Amino acid sequence: MRTPTTEAGPARGQTPRLDGKLETIRATLLRRNPGEEEFHQAVDDVLATVGPVAARRPEYAEAKLLERICEPERQIIFRVPWTDDRGEVHINRGYRVEFNSALGPYKGGLRFDRSVNASIMKFLGFEQVFKNALTGMPIGGAKGGADFDPKGRSDGEVMRFCQSFMTELHRHLGEHTDVPAGDIGVGQRELGYLFGQYKRITNRYESGVLTGKGLAWGGARVRREATGYGCAYFVAEMLAARGTSFDGRDVVVSGAGNVALSAIEKAQQLGGHVIACSDTSGYVHDPRGLDVELLTQVKEVERADLAEYARRRGDGARHVAGGSAWAVPCHVALPCATQNELSGADARRLVQGGVVAVAEGANMPCTPDAVRAFRDAGVAFGPGKAANAGGVATSALEMQQNASRDSWTFEHTERRLVEIMRDIHAACRDTAAEYGAPGDYAAGANIAGFVRVADAMLALGLI
Ligand code: GLU
Repeated sequence: MRTPTTEAGPARGQTPRLDGKLETIRATLLRRNPGEEEFHQAVDDVLATVGPVAARRPEYAEAKLLERICEPERQIIFRVPWTDDRGEVHINRGYRVEFNSALGPYKGGLRFDRSVNASIMKFLGFEQVFKNALTGMPIGGAKGGADFDPKGRSDGEVMRFCQSFMTELHRHLGEHTDVPAGDIGVGQRELGYLFGQYKRITNRYESGVLTGKGLAWGGARVRREATGYGCAYFVAEMLAARGTSFDGRDVVVSGAGNVALSAIEKAQQLGGHVIACSDTSGYVHDPRGLDVELLTQVKEVERADLAEYARRRGDGARHVAGGSAWAVPCHVALPCATQNELSGADARRLVQGGVVAVAEGANMPCTPDAVRAFRDAGVAFGPGKAANAGGVATSALEMQQNASRDSWTFEHTERRLVEIMRDIHAACRDTAAEYGAPGDYAAGANIAGFVRVADAMLALGLI
């Protein structure tokens, strides 16, 4: 046994002291995926917690299930050429990592962001496999995207990019094969252009091939809000398990995109007092409580930054340029921006400030050091795989509605979301207790997700 000190760093929340077998799996993965730090980090997080399963289920080891789960079923990398408004040619790189289809068609979002590379795609695809399994819905795991940044691009440029991207990707998709959705940089505008091009090329109005669609063209109510709402509901469950609630608690949310805005709205409805959020310009501290309507107007409609929100809101609202929202003490912290945005130092500061619950609205926003600090301090920690699973779960509800050519009400769909988040919370809590890690939602999420996928893989044979 050794404490790994390679580029992957320690697993989230604990230094992985892996037994010989797990250590061999890890060493092989590092060798075969060199330099892919985010992917290593996501795998380490799982390897550090699934040891007790291996001991109980020897048939998993025999079938090399962990090794198979860590290897994507298929990885597609392609050229995306397009022209900007001045006629200049650009070349981007597109990806789709179809990670696992044991439970259903590949399912997961598309991210358009400058930071996109093979490591980020694989970490997100890997996380998605476990997350989707936790929802209890029949969906496999995938992720895709491109190193294209829609910010500052005209509608025409975004449309031409999306059309070029889909011209290649369409041959890999299908409602029973692979069903993308949005993620960072891919919202309803982008999904509309992607769906339009898919429809044109295939000559099929195949609504179930994408989720997160607009309501006018096959979308489902609550999908837009689902990730943020689900995250707030997950926190409510964690707080209730400790005999408390959101009531009167100060909440800080990082980010100001779709997930953050919905998390803020629902946290407020559940009684929380949300006092800060952030974007690439810095953060805004609004001690009276954030005005979601104004926030939505500034961020979604005007696509302006939080300095504009503070200027219009006045009366104590303060914009701190370049600062991190984690400087603001709170009881509940919801990182909803991007991976590795909340460091160990941030976590220790939050603990000192009295944080009692943290839930990841984004994928892997807390560094391993941060998760360790929360765990050591006894903070309730909801990992992204569980806490932000409401988005993809509602995507699966959208697929159900598309398949039956039905359209559910907001109330009905939100009730389903609440039930799903309750079930995910219970699965994480019960599994953690069953495997000797009571209160450790991260371990519970990894083990429960792993067992669901592993059992299906076993049943399907060596494929
Ligand atoms: N991108 C979202 C996630 O990280 C949603 C995926 C989906 O709805 O397919 O889970």
